[in-house]
Amino acid sequence: MPTYRAPRGTRDLLPDDRAVFDRLMRLGADLTRRYGYRPIETPLFEQTAVFERGIGEVTDVVEKELFRLAPRTDESEAWALRPEPTAGIVRAYVQHGMQTWPQPVKLTTTGPMFRYDRPQAGRYRQFWQFDVEAIGDPGPAIDAEIVELGHRFYTEAGVQGVEVLVNSIGDPACRPAYIATLTDYYRGHLAKLPPTERDRLERNVLRLLDSKDPDMAGLNAAAPRITDHLCEACSAHFESVKAHLAALGVPFRVEPGLVRGLDYYTRTAFEFYVAGREGQQQALGGGGRYDGLVALLGGRPTPGIGFGLGLDRVALVLAEQGGADGAAAGAEGPLAVVVSADPDDTVSRLRIATELRAAGLRVRADLARRKLGRQLESAGKDGAHFAVIVGEELVDGQVQVRDLQAGTQRTVAPGDLARELARAEATHHHG
Ligand code: AMP
Repeated sequence: MPTYRAPRGTRDLLPDDRAVFDRLMRLGADLTRRYGYRPIETPLFEQTAVFERGIGEVTDVVEKELFRLAPRTDESEAWALRPEPTAGIVRAYVQHGMQTWPQPVKLTTTGPMFRYDRPQAGRYRQFWQFDVEAIGDPGPAIDAEIVELGHRFYTEAGVQGVEVLVNSIGDPACRPAYIATLTDYYRGHLAKLPPTERDRLERNVLRLLDSKDPDMAGLNAAAPRITDHLCEACSAHFESVKAHLAALGVPFRVEPGLVRGLDYYTRTAFEFYVAGREGQQQALGGGGRYDGLVALLGGRPTPGIGFGLGLDRVALVLAEQGGADGAAAGAEGPLAVVVSADPDDTVSRLRIATELRAAGLRVRADLARRKLGRQLESAGKDGAHFAVIVGEELVDGQVQVRDLQAGTQRTVAPGDLARELARAEATHHHG
């Protein structure tokens, strides 16, 4: 027999892992509700053109990492798995005429994203993002509101030492001149450029600034800074974002090298890191303003801003920092286990368990055909509070309820069973 494994770069979230994700998703849902975002779901795949036009063809995400789906011969459309949610959400905004809704339209989604990356710790081919998008507000106040929301997510999740890095990457008015300056700069150091970066120099020079190649570090540190080349409008916008962040008490640092890997960003760009996390260059999350994206995808020019926070990396950091404990809580034992004196009578056990579950209680039916003593033993190991014993001197459907923790036992009429167990659980939890 072959041994099957999850595909390279993917992982199974076992119940303890999933419990951490659940907690993070509940936090995301609660926070976005407080901040006025409404959940949306878009497909896990889109027409490839949505990503190529939206994210940009000369980006790592589209050029190297896009999971393209092999088209069937009778289909003329090409599809790809979503590498990030913004392009799909903006496609939906345009398709459903959300321009006519009260602006901004504030949307949130959480789910798996797919990138054909080289797998390593914290870098997967399928990973989860918690995402928010506010479409239709030019900022700058909402830029700060969104950064603060992201920062609060980490704080309330219990991640320690999160740093916010912000930058402005200009707009179509000022970026072209900066790009020319930057191109000249790298041309002057052509011999020092690794081959992939040299290849990108003339096609998308901004990508050189966020290159992961260690040989680029020195060159990039000395590169001309976009913040020294912003037009007046972008500069005023950036100053205001920083003033709002300061007023909200969000600790942030301006990082002039921060350009983000996707083409659609304009003006505000930001990323979240854990300060001093050894040997990890990986961002916990990031986002930015995308004032050109709605128009790129066929809508009326409309500004927007959003972020995507990687949940896998949050879970990883929580585990490193020893804050992922809550997970075991999901492994709580049942309130009661229904057992029987008659090893063959699985019908009564299952019927009573079903009635109790219908009443909202956490109940396991012991479905093994084994002696009562063994069934009770297993109920104890489960951590159950009660054993409901059927088939012992049953009169009018009465059952025995044994309190496994107190070691007491009494007879209960069938009509009282759910109420008695529920009451006992309530006293137990509040007492
Ligand atoms: P990006 O749009 O590339 O900045 O991605 C936003 C966030 O998603 C990152 O900061 C990570 O937390 C997460 N992320 C991106 N790519 C991956 C990946 N391959 N594996 C795990 N998390 C990722």
